[in-house]
This record gives sequence, structure tokens and C-alpha cells, in this order.
Amino acid sequence: MSPGENLDNVDRGRRRFDLAIIGGGIVGLATAHAITRDRPGTSVVIIEKESDLAAHQTGRNSGVIHSGIYYKPGSLKAQMCKQGRDSMVDFCRTHDIAHELCGKLIVATKESELPGLQKLYDRGVENGLDVSMIDPGQAHEIEPHVACVKAVLVPSTGIADYVAVARTYARLALQQGAELRLGTQVTKITAPATSGGVTRIETNRGDIEATWLVNCAGLHSDRMAKAAGADPTAKIVPFRGEYYELTPGRRHLVNTLIYPVPNPDFPFLGVHLTKMIDGSVHAGPNAVLALAREGYHKTDVNLSDLKEVLAYSGFHKLARKYWADGAKEVLRSLSKRQFVRSLQELVPEITAEDVVPSEAGIRAQALLADGALVDDFLIDDQPGATHVLNAPSPAATASLEIGQEIAARVATQLSAALAG
Ligand SMILES: Cc1cc2nc3c(=O)[nH]c(=O)nc-3n(C[C@H](O)[C@H](O)[C@H](O)COP(=O)(O)OP(=O)(O)OC[C@H]3O[C@@H](n4cnc5c(N)ncnc54)[C@H](O)[C@@H]3O)c2cc1C
Repeated sequence: MSPGENLDNVDRGRRRFDLAIIGGGIVGLATAHAITRDRPGTSVVIIEKESDLAAHQTGRNSGVIHSGIYYKPGSLKAQMCKQGRDSMVDFCRTHDIAHELCGKLIVATKESELPGLQKLYDRGVENGLDVSMIDPGQAHEIEPHVACVKAVLVPSTGIADYVAVARTYARLALQQGAELRLGTQVTKITAPATSGGVTRIETNRGDIEATWLVNCAGLHSDRMAKAAGADPTAKIVPFRGEYYELTPGRRHLVNTLIYPVPNPDFPFLGVHLTKMIDGSVHAGPNAVLALAREGYHKTDVNLSDLKEVLAYSGFHKLARKYWADGAKEVLRSLSKRQFVRSLQELVPEITAEDVVPSEAGIRAQALLADGALVDDFLIDDQPGATHVLNAPSPAATASLEIGQEIAARVATQLSAALAG
């Protein structure tokens, strides 16, 4: 089976497993791959509500193998992204998955952005990366059309086909005996009061029992955690990221990846220009509140999703603090002219005629009740379950490391449960 092929259901009629994983995105599948590789013989089922894998964040991202320059030294993101970048490149090489180490430029387009650029450079050095501060002449050798007063060059950044990566994780896990239930939505979870009991998972296609549950439900991870009796400290708020793409005749304006200096208050990296693995060039994503957790179009509204966000004290606090930034994002979402202006700051030659709308993605971003966006990855162990409560970018890059970390926790829990 090649990485690009669809994977079908594997259902041997079994109802009781050592481990049930909710979510057929890159994190759930990396976990299935890691546990079946490191603990052969563990019975594993992957439960995915869609009819195919990688239908949400994993299949709708920028496709960047991040280097780890942005993240707070010592954080899970910083450690797992740096290691994950290397393991992702090895994994793509080993399994013949399309990827390219094209490097990236982070550009300061005005003098006022230089302190922010310097901070990023310093952080890159602190995170142990090979980064260099370059002048406009050097930047133009890489990107002849870019506007900049100075730039940070990050040669270790790349691009990959993450859908193929996710499918390959699934294929490897299935080869090791894991089962896959596509089109199967988890509707209710009854967790044991203490570790060692059995978790009952109700789905639209019958019940499943498991000694341990791993919740990698992305945009629904907080709800799944709550359903399993946990009390997640943060709620998922969906931020839609809209993209345009350059028309084929204008792709030559971008050779690699061009990023702005990001706003340090937000976990998002700012609208950037990204060469994709299929040769197209994507521009985006912005970050607007989605009116539905899976609302990929501006007009998609889910009243219960929306009510939940609007009733949340954390959202009120976030909105009060950042209403002006939020309003700018909404304006840029509604006006192609505004979006193109952001792109012109990076590459002035881009015009409105050069870009056409492309598919949007939605980030599952955990928000605390005090209005703070959770910056780091958040993985929480509860009796009978491990919940991935915040796995935003660079979780695709770091997926092998995240999967391995969860698999190690699960192995310990399963050993204890089986011994008990
Ligand atoms: C716009 C955008 C750009 C990004 N760019 C990058 C990038 O360039 N590089 C990078 O490293 N990362 C990037 N990311 C982040 C990366 O894509 C995500 O961190 C990663 O895909 C998260 O994977 P996941 O498995 O946790 O979630 P998902 O891929 O969302 O998977 C969760 C799965 O759970 C399933 N599910 C949910 N509820 C249920 C239920 N009740 N029953 C059964 N199944 C259920 C869903 O259907 C879904 O398939 C980006 C993300 C976005 C949105």
C-alpha cells in the first residue's frame, strides 16, 4: 500500500482492547504507531468519526516541518519540535514520503520589527538551532522578490506531505495488528473511577471496551475529556486559518518559505508564504474565531459550538484584551484587499489578481478560564485515560515525539493495570 492510498476499516469483530485511541489525525496515528512498535502484542483500536484519516487539522495545515525557533526554551514544543524535525525528516526518507528541506526566511520588513527579529534569532540560538541573521542582499539571493531590512535564515526548516505521513503511521500500526474503525463516532465514555478498571466507549457503531483510552480528538478533545470524567482546565476555541494560493504563473515569486516577525502575544505565526510539496504556493493562514468547530467556510455556524464559546469566561477575557487585533483579523478575512496587503509587506509584487482562495484549516487552540491561550502542548493523565488537550502547531512536525511520549505513558499504565 502506498502512503497516498486510502486505508480501509480493519474490524476483526473484537470489542475489547488494551488501548483505544480516539482520533485518526497525525497525533492519534503516531501514538498507535509508537505503541505497536514499542510494545508488540498490545491490542489497539483507532476510532475515527470521518470516513478517512487526517480529515481535519492534519489534512489542512501548511505542511511545514518546523525547526523549533519560536518556542520557549525548555518547553515541550521546543524539545519535541527540534527532535521531531530530525525524526520527521528521517521518517520521510525511510518511507519515501515527499518532503524537501528548503529552509525559511523570517523577515523584518521595517526597522521597528528588528528587536522582535533579534529576539527570535537569540531564541533560535538558545534552542540549539543553526540560524543566521542576514542582510537584504543575502536574502535576495534566496528570495529575489522579498522585502526586508534584515532576515533570519533557518536552513533546517522544510516541507512534507503530512497526510502521507499520517497514513504511513496508520499502515505501520495496522501491520502490527492494530484495528481501525473509520466512520465511527464516540458518543459516550464511561471511565473507571480508578486506574485498572475498564473504560466503556460508546459509538454510533457499537460499544468498545479498553484498559486504557488515549484521547487525540483535536477540535473535540476537551469534550471527549469531559465525557470521560476529566475536568479539563482549558476549553478548545476553534481559530479558522484561511489561505489563498498564488496562481501558477506567479509561483516564481516565492522559492521557499517567507514568514513575518510574529506577534509574541499569540501562538500563531502570522500570514506567511509557503511553498507546498505539490509545488503550489500558499499564502496564510490568518486567525479568526470559527463559528463552528469544523466551520471551514465563513458562513458555517454551529449554534451550540458558538454558544459554548460566547458563554466562556476565558473567551470574554481574551476578547477584552485583544479585541483590536481580533477586529483586524476579521477585516482581513472579509477583505481580499486587506489580505493581499499583508502579503505585499513580504513580497510587494503580489497583486490581488495573483491569488485565489484555497481551503481553510481550523486550529484547535486551548484557552484557559483566565483568558490565556495555552502555549505549550498539554497532555494529561487521568484514571484510565491520557488526554491530549492542546496539540497545535508544530504538533505535525513533532508527531513522532508526541506519539512516543504518549506510548511510554500508556505502556507504564498498561503494565500497572495488567499487574494489578
Ligand atoms: C491552519 C493550520 C496550519 C498548520 N500548520 C502546521 C505546520 O505547518 N506544521 C506543523 O507541524 N503543524 C501545523 N499545524 C498543526 C497541525 O496540523 C496539528 O497540530 C496536528 O494536525 C494535530 O493533529 P491531531 O491528530 O491532534 O488533530 P486532528 O488532525 O484534528 O485529528 C483529530 C481527529 O479526531 C477525530 N475525532 C474528533 N472527535 C471524535 C469523536 N467523537 N469520535 C471519533 N473521532 C473523533 C477527528 O475527526 C479528527 O480526525 C497547523 C494547523 C492548522 C489548523
